[in-house]
Amino acid sequence: MSANWQLRSSAFTLELRHRFTLANSSRTTTPTLLVELEYDGIVGYGESAMPPYLGETQATAAEFLARIDLALLRDPFRTAEVLGRVNAIAAGNHAAKAAFDIALHDWLGKVLGQPWYRIHGLDPEQAPVTSYTIGIHAPETVRQIAAAASGQYRAFKIKLGGRQDREMIGAIRDAAATPIRVDVNQGWHDRDHALREIEWLATQGVELVEQPMPVASVDDLAWLRERSPLPIVADEAVQRLVDVRSAAGVYDGVNIKLMKCTGMREARAMIERARALDLRVMLGCMTESSCAISAAAQLAPLVDWADLDGALLVANDPFDGAMLSDGRIVPCERPGHGAVPRSIADPRVESSAR
Ligand SMILES: [Mg+2]
Repeated sequence: MSANWQLRSSAFTLELRHRFTLANSSRTTTPTLLVELEYDGIVGYGESAMPPYLGETQATAAEFLARIDLALLRDPFRTAEVLGRVNAIAAGNHAAKAAFDIALHDWLGKVLGQPWYRIHGLDPEQAPVTSYTIGIHAPETVRQIAAAASGQYRAFKIKLGGRQDREMIGAIRDAAATPIRVDVNQGWHDRDHALREIEWLATQGVELVEQPMPVASVDDLAWLRERSPLPIVADEAVQRLVDVRSAAGVYDGVNIKLMKCTGMREARAMIERARALDLRVMLGCMTESSCAISAAAQLAPLVDWADLDGALLVANDPFDGAMLSDGRIVPCERPGHGAVPRSIADPRVESSAR
């Protein structure tokens, strides 16, 4: 069986609708590597989305994928064995591993003729509303973005840790009453300051605070969690399954992303482990095309909070997949993860999308 497997990858640059500024970086594009895994005329699609600050590149992801011996797909349904061996090829390379995992899941779902939410036994109606991310901007720009987005989205996520945190929250509140989730990206360094800010945020319709302080500030984060009126969610502190246990007692929840945790298989295991540790779960994303977002959306019915707007921030999405409906990213009905290249889904947009 292995002789006929093919794994192809191609570099693609995602162009963002708005410049995306965090507490410690700013950019207008995100590099991604699009992957096709083909056997017997069936193609599974995968993606490695790689924000530059995480260290992987299109070149390192392509090199990693080239090291996968496709003979290990002798029985592609043995995902524990197959993905375990892919994981063992080298440390790191989380986004590259995710591309292979996503493509394999897509291929398997197509062979089974079912979307993954059905294979996992989930109700797509249980997918929570997704937040729409607003980067660090001048307050007037924030107000305009919030006003334009408030009809379509039922939650915002705003990046704080800059110099105008309260002004940006105020700008959203001038535009809309939409619930807000706050992501500080480790940007606060004093726990008393962090607590004061969180106590104020709790009066502004904020639902949760993500990674308020640096990952290494474990004692301060635990101190903050005991006093915070809002749930504190780990993002940078939790990459993979092995990290989930360390979040208990320090955070109230974890933000799981396919590009951090190597894909759908490990994400599902992380969700289950988090539940067992009484942690709440957010399913997040990087700036990604609808390929990786559609894969994550298949797991969305399992989580408390979705932050799956990555493809909605992209101006040149090369895939047609999970769509926004009543503020939620709803899993596709098509088999696998359900995303298909726009050149297949709609030939009219081929030239602009690829
Ligand atoms: Mg985050």
